[in-house]
Amino acid sequence: MSIQSADLEPCTGCGGLFLHLDGPTHRYMESSASCWATFGAMNDPSRSIEYVPFSALTVDAYAAQHPGQPSHQTVNSVAIHLMVLFGVLERGYEPEQALWLRTRPGRLGKTLKHDRFHWLTPPSFTSRLTLADVVAGRTPRERSPMIQAWTEDVWAAWAAPHSVQVEAWFERYILSERL
Ligand SMILES: [Zn+2]
Repeated sequence: MSIQSADLEPCTGCGGLFLHLDGPTHRYMESSASCWATFGAMNDPSRSIEYVPFSALTVDAYAAQHPGQPSHQTVNSVAIHLMVLFGVLERGYEPEQALWLRTRPGRLGKTLKHDRFHWLTPPSFTSRLTLADVVAGRTPRERSPMIQAWTEDVWAAWAAPHSVQVEAWFERYILSERL
């Protein structure tokens, strides 16, 4: 069965082209149903994506490329996932430290939570890699390295306008012991 381009629709978040699908989407990460379903299926053994270190960052790349609309939740989500990408791609943290990076700002407790970050206007993802590119490879060997390339491209899109702000947050909420 060949896929006709007419069957493909762009994701409202990342712009990647996916076969149309009716289904659920995430509560605040805006995407097409098909992009969200593809993300959900990434850990499905039938997908046959080999484990690569950057597999630990798929949730960060996905969240950053589907920022949604400004709200407390999306502000917090985008900021934290961008700090993880910054930590690994700019500061040399290992991908396996992603969980530590992701949860470290939580040690501040709830009191500061809504004042820490602000909304960053999302960059355009036109011509950037998306999840559609990751799953487009014909074999696991073709698909798996795309996870790192995709993650790097998502960060590159954000870094151009916002790396200074993300670095400032990283210094304050990941590294600093004095708050
Ligand atoms: Zn998408």
